[in-house]
Amino acid sequence: MGCSFTVAIDGPAAAGKGTVSRAVAAHFGFAYLDTGLLYRAVGAKVIGGMGPCEAARTLAREDLEAEGLRSSAVAQEASKVAVIGAVRDALTAFQRDFATQEGGAVLDGRDIGTVICPNADAKLFVTASAEVRAKRRHAEMQHSDSSESLAQVLADVRARDARDMQRAEAPLRPAQDALLIDTSNLSIDEAVSAAIGAVNAKRTKT
Ligand code: C5P
Repeated sequence: MGCSFTVAIDGPAAAGKGTVSRAVAAHFGFAYLDTGLLYRAVGAKVIGGMGPCEAARTLAREDLEAEGLRSSAVAQEASKVAVIGAVRDALTAFQRDFATQEGGAVLDGRDIGTVICPNADAKLFVTASAEVRAKRRHAEMQHSDSSESLAQVLADVRARDARDMQRAEAPLRPAQDALLIDTSNLSIDEAVSAAIGAVNAKRTKT
């Protein structure tokens, strides 16, 4: 395992984690896992009628490519199944294996630095105000056929934040040793540079 290097990137919905994570992974040549997709895929199977624990236990790679995983209905269902300890447990081994692969890995989610990879080599917590996050998500949606109002998107963001932060199992919070990046007033390039700089600082130390 000599060549593994794990970057844990956590934060609330629509803070820019995905963009930052993909850029960090590309910059360092690391593999990237969007762990939210695992919970979304479980949520989608539950909407399809399966029980949440069975959905998590039988999750397959092709489920991560199902259509509609990015919809807000699936996101809300994902945050509901994510409060169930047995669902989280069923997804842990896959995430830890991914994290320790040779050549390095970036994982983004809610509990990567706190629960999945407490020994990650670099930990970032990417956040932004709820209003800024809702505006970004709403702007993104203009490219799809969704017609939710900004107020609806903000209410969804707040509902998901509350569920993610208040749950008993692996609640959303920064790890003690995470570097906080607030992207409310940062451009994408500025947020990416801050993240790459932080990971670089850890790389030269290990
Ligand atoms: O990141 P994304 O918005 O795709 O995540 C969807 C939902 O999955 C989150 O609201 C959260 O409830 C759950 N999740 C989680 N732990 C993770 C990643 C996502 O609980 N590591």
